[in-house]
Amino acid sequence: MKTIKRFTSISFFFFFYIFSSYGQEHEILLIPEQVFDGKEIHRDWGVLIQHGLIKDAGPISSLEISNTAQRRILSGQTLMPGMIEGHSHILLHPYNETSWNDQVLKESYAERAVRAANHVTKSLKAGITTMRDLGSEGAGYLDVGIKQSIEKGIIEGPDLIVAGPAIVATGSYGPKGFADHVRVPLGAYEADGTDNLILEVRRQIGGGADIIKVYADYRWGPEGEARPTFTLEELELIVRVAASSGRKVVAHAATTEGMRRATLAGVYTIEHGDGGTREIFELMKRQKVALCPTLAAGDAIMQYRGWRKGLDPEPQRITNKRESFALALEVGVAIVAGGDVGVFPHGENVREFEMMVDYGMLPIEVLRNVTSGNATLLGLSGKGEIKSGMTADIISVYGDPSLIISDLRNIHLVVKKGRIVHLRD
Ligand SMILES: [Zn+2]
Repeated sequence: MKTIKRFTSISFFFFFYIFSSYGQEHEILLIPEQVFDGKEIHRDWGVLIQHGLIKDAGPISSLEISNTAQRRILSGQTLMPGMIEGHSHILLHPYNETSWNDQVLKESYAERAVRAANHVTKSLKAGITTMRDLGSEGAGYLDVGIKQSIEKGIIEGPDLIVAGPAIVATGSYGPKGFADHVRVPLGAYEADGTDNLILEVRRQIGGGADIIKVYADYRWGPEGEARPTFTLEELELIVRVAASSGRKVVAHAATTEGMRRATLAGVYTIEHGDGGTREIFELMKRQKVALCPTLAAGDAIMQYRGWRKGLDPEPQRITNKRESFALALEVGVAIVAGGDVGVFPHGENVREFEMMVDYGMLPIEVLRNVTSGNATLLGLSGKGEIKSGMTADIISVYGDPSLIISDLRNIHLVVKKGRIVHLRD
């Protein structure tokens, strides 16, 4: 793995030209040091791509390779499926740059959209070829517009699954702290009770939401602590209305009771889940509800509040998170890999995957989660695996991330639907 053959600048551009011009039509054979197919590591494999799909993958001797196939050797590299980010906010940027309140209240939609365009490009270059974006945070349906801009080829970015504005219970969400006669735009749309919730779910579907995001709890307790928001009946209604349109519901929930209601209501994933107990995790497992732990978000927020990671003792919140994540693993809840990227810098998605290892998973398990695991749990057929017939969303990294997860940072090649979109020497 140490012998890294580097391309000269001439061959670099030649490769780029060949790939980007003919990648769709001509057969290309990629020969890396090893292939991670979404499940296991294989040596001496080749991967054939054509027409935006993986034509075949397996031991090189077993592949039917046409005479005109272009061969590309990827020395010292691991080739694997493009990564799937489970929880992003393309319309947010780190809060230590600009507070969440100021992003919602002071940044124009133009600024937010331009920032989002940069964010999705950074994500793609980091090897993220699909991303589930969970709420525009006060930017209406700009996430739908960014998704369409990617689909039309106006900007480069991952395939997006978007939630639109998201739904919150009246009075629960921010920005807060204004006099009662001052009306400020909120980070999500308020709705409550039967008629309003039905209306708002349908509006968001009509507005282009692929999924419905709901806040099952939020920090609106008497002491500013997280408390449940919607009743179980309200959450069930949201799930039922979304389901009749073929859409799933994802719940933000950090309290035990919020998680319990969201799980019983039938959401497909719970985001954060800090208050998960053994009983709740067992309930989630039984109900087939996955947990997206967003480890990196809490880690970033504590650092924004002054925690000097590596110098100061670990704050209680971080220790608690470690313990609840370990408990979720012990119980066997399905884990969606997703970091809440946007709270921390876009393109730094790997931070979450590194923390999953730090908090108790093996690197190869994390690799499975960010590829085939997320594809299964998020219902993305044709993605997350290197095998015949799958979409050719492929990345190649120097080193072996199945042993050292941080090798995911050493991106060399990003291919999306058979087309090279990023190549770095
Ligand atoms: Zn989030």
